[in-house]
Amino acid sequence: MSLLLLGRWLPAERDHWLHLLQSVMPDEQWLLAPPVNPAEATEVEVAVVANPEPGSLAGLPKLRLIQSLWAGVDRLLQDLTLPPDVPLARMVDPAMNESMAHTALWAVLSLHRGFFELQAQQGRAEWKAPQQPRASEWRVLVLGLGELGGRVAQSLAAQGYAVSGWSRRPAVLAGVHTLHGEAGLAEGLAQADTVVNLLPLTEQTRDFFDAPRFEAMKPGASLVNLARGAHVLEVDLLAALDGGRLSRAVLDVFRQEPLPVDHPFWRHPRITVLPHCAAQTDPRSAAAVVRANVLALRAGQPLQHLVQRHQGY
Ligand code: NAP
Repeated sequence: MSLLLLGRWLPAERDHWLHLLQSVMPDEQWLLAPPVNPAEATEVEVAVVANPEPGSLAGLPKLRLIQSLWAGVDRLLQDLTLPPDVPLARMVDPAMNESMAHTALWAVLSLHRGFFELQAQQGRAEWKAPQQPRASEWRVLVLGLGELGGRVAQSLAAQGYAVSGWSRRPAVLAGVHTLHGEAGLAEGLAQADTVVNLLPLTEQTRDFFDAPRFEAMKPGASLVNLARGAHVLEVDLLAALDGGRLSRAVLDVFRQEPLPVDHPFWRHPRITVLPHCAAQTDPRSAAAVVRANVLALRAGQPLQHLVQRHQGY
């Protein structure tokens, strides 16, 4: 039985992953794809994938586990040929959670203390100190309280921010005012100075940030989108910023990536663009996560971080 490493990446990146995976699982036989060699396809037991081309996981009759190397599986789930009965696990990487907490803290702190404005002021040689509200006077709403959102909410709370968090089901999180349902969302949006998006992209959350949603936010609030570009209707965001409803947006993800060079976000004075780098899977820790699931599969033990396909995350 073999493990198949399959993704859309540069050869050097693929080789780096292979090296690390082989180093933690030296006794396994690894196959590289694409393409999947038809003779070898019948041997594949586990597919370790990084958003492979649609269709590439079909025709693997002995496949027992699909392990994604990425946390978000929205793109993978769009592949209608994905074998429906094979468990799909996503990446939950402690190092990535830590990086996301750092990025969110940088964005919230910069918004709270006006550091983005100060950077613009420097360009104009303008000496003007901003107001300095306390962190406890700055309310942050984190949308999604999963692996990433939960970690972000707790790390912001530890820095003294007034943190609310919204999830699908009721949640309990130390130091965080938790909300759910439409009423909870309305309450959270109306009160937050900064909204941090860490929802998965599903049928329910696509186009989440549209004009009515921006209208429901506290006037002058800011948006930090660290989840997926398709959560945001770009035209509505620009209108909310230009109309003064929103003060600023920090965007790590976009409907089209890389963000086209002529896209208005690049040059908007109140948008900060990051090139989808808020939190990357760390191959060193992720290889151990893959190994743990492969061992669990072999031992007949429960697999970790399984995707609930009907929910889309
Ligand atoms: P996760 O553990 O699956 O958590 C998802 C959270 O969202 C859960 O709290 C869930 O609620 C909530 N949720 C889902 N659908 C909802 C809905 N319709 N209404 C309200 N809440 C809803 O996901 P994660 O690991 O935290 O990752 C979140 C997303 O971050 C990924 O899907 C990916 O798109 C993105 N991401 C971005 C980067 C980057 O570099 N920018 C890196 C990695 C991941 P329940 O708790 O009730 O289930």
